[in-house]
Amino acid sequence: MARPLQASIDLAALTHNLGVVRRHAPNSRIMAVIKANAYGHGMLRAAGALREADGFAVLRLEEAMALREAGFTQRILLLEGFFSADELPLLAQHRISSVIHHSAQAELLQRAELSEKIDVFLKINTGMNRLGFLPEQFPAALESLRANKNVASVTLTTHFATADEPPGISAQLELFDRLTRGLELPRSLANSAAILRHPETHGDWVRPGITLYGASPFAEASAQELGLKPVMTLQSRIIAVQNLGAGDTAGYGGLFRAERPTRIGIVACGYADGYPRHAPTGTPILVNGKRTRTIGRVSMDMLFADLTGIPDAAVDSPVTLWGDGLPADEVARAAGTISYELFCALAPRVPVVEIGK
Ligand SMILES: *Cc1c(COP(=O)(O)O)cnc(C)c1O
Repeated sequence: MARPLQASIDLAALTHNLGVVRRHAPNSRIMAVIKANAYGHGMLRAAGALREADGFAVLRLEEAMALREAGFTQRILLLEGFFSADELPLLAQHRISSVIHHSAQAELLQRAELSEKIDVFLKINTGMNRLGFLPEQFPAALESLRANKNVASVTLTTHFATADEPPGISAQLELFDRLTRGLELPRSLANSAAILRHPETHGDWVRPGITLYGASPFAEASAQELGLKPVMTLQSRIIAVQNLGAGDTAGYGGLFRAERPTRIGIVACGYADGYPRHAPTGTPILVNGKRTRTIGRVSMDMLFADLTGIPDAAVDSPVTLWGDGLPADEVARAAGTISYELFCALAPRVPVVEIGK
């Protein structure tokens, strides 16, 4: 018998969630964000389930080329653009679009001798202060890209810092609109939160990530309320049971101390699998389909589940760490993080099975 931990990826749920995005932004093209190995779900696997998307956004040229090699013909965008001039011939050859976010990139593109022109997304820093031309740099950047012999088309883009929470997007959107007024160029602004909450941001291309994977971009609205279905379910089993007496402790540091006799299950899943080590006692977990809590400190390969109130739980009882029946958002919140980080951290040693084909 193999170690019982596995992640199942529900391909039908991915396709369903793409449909939810489409219903929210019916007049926009969808650039499915599949960076970071599709948020831990497997890039080519996710792209297959999302093949109706109009484009894909990734970070690295290797990822873009792997998509082309797998036969995907839609738009592919490098979200940080290219990093050095030697990548440019490959962008041209494989028709890969690039964000241009600073002038050194624009200059490299101008100097290159390429077989084809490249579609670029000119990024404006409207307040996120991560990537992009400052408002006062934008007009010159646009002018130089329009004069650039290697540029086929320009799409205007920005990224929101607070699409999911106050103060919202209005200041950034107003600045973007003011800078780009009158320009007959396609636009791309919205991440998941803006797609769901701020239809005025939709423009020509929306860029959903987390919603595709069935988690909520909002602290106060559940994925289920948003009509999204979980895609990744992390499941394992109980591999041992211990009976603690009052005063006994469990695990490293003796962090958990039983106040009364307590049955606990040892679950085959630890931080080396991607489960957050900082998840405290009380993090939700399902045993035999019943909701209970983790206790003590997560170890590298195992963690503890409280079996109080689940008398039928025993060795081999199924455990859900997150996913179907236990939203990743709830586990993430208990552990002081977000579902994005849980998904991305799924370790390569965890076997993946595909369901919903
Ligand atoms: C990651 C990313 C997205 C997707 O964000 P979600 O919150 O997952 O929808 C969109 N745009 C850019 C520029 C990104 O880096």
